[in-house]
Amino acid sequence: MCIAFPQHQFSAVKIFPMAVNYRMSSKPITITLRFYEELNDFLPAHRRKVRFRRSLSHNTTVKDVIESCGVPHPEVDLILVNGVSVDFTCRIKTGDDISVYPVFETLDISGETRLSGRPLRRLRFLADVHLGRLTRKLRLLGIDVHEHPEGGDAELARASAKSGLVLLTRDRRLLMRREIQRGYFVRSVHPNEQTVEVIRRFDLRNSLAPFIRCTSCNHLLETVPKDDVRHLLKPLTNKYYRHFSRCTGCGKVYWQGAHHKKLLGFVNWVSAAAG
Ligand SMILES: [Zn+2]
Repeated sequence: MCIAFPQHQFSAVKIFPMAVNYRMSSKPITITLRFYEELNDFLPAHRRKVRFRRSLSHNTTVKDVIESCGVPHPEVDLILVNGVSVDFTCRIKTGDDISVYPVFETLDISGETRLSGRPLRRLRFLADVHLGRLTRKLRLLGIDVHEHPEGGDAELARASAKSGLVLLTRDRRLLMRREIQRGYFVRSVHPNEQTVEVIRRFDLRNSLAPFIRCTSCNHLLETVPKDDVRHLLKPLTNKYYRHFSRCTGCGKVYWQGAHHKKLLGFVNWVSAAAG
């Protein structure tokens, strides 16, 4: 299959001060927090995998407290306040002990308040425009990944919320937008590692269907007779290849050309690495 990946460079993780929009209140609040598993990726070293104390000058919601620690709310699936599961709107009080968990893969928490909602029947994604190479690699594997190239953060967040697409981004500030319900902060900066990371995180290994989707526009491919595309082929392609597919969206023509073996190697590598 002849496909070329553009050579984008990824920006580093955006570092920003964590501002909290607390409501004014005269009483200081002291709480303790503990973040579990991969949520620790967002914390400074001294706060990882330990319970730590925070003092706040104002009353606020548990969502604001969690995000003030640097953890975007779409990464969170369960919050326990004093051992009781709560949603993001829960207002904290002094002395509260807060435990924050990511999406569970093996532990049954069906009786608790899962914050990421019910599992999607068919996972579809909306990728930040800065994740162009990841987007194309996921499409190569048959995964449904949309883009919103012309919009800013607000448009991207609205599109994710309206469509139910899972937002993939490396912008923590974007993930913290209130309207986003499903999202994931891609940890790695390397497109191959990012691909494995997303497949593992969303348990997509058994859903891979390589070479069925256009890497440029995400539409599905259809098999076409050579005569239908012959006028688009270069002489050597016309001479050596017999089987062709065409994108049902943009019309781009695909065939198993010189790069196919390399792409097949990538598919096999991802399947093994994600296992
Ligand atoms: Zn296309």
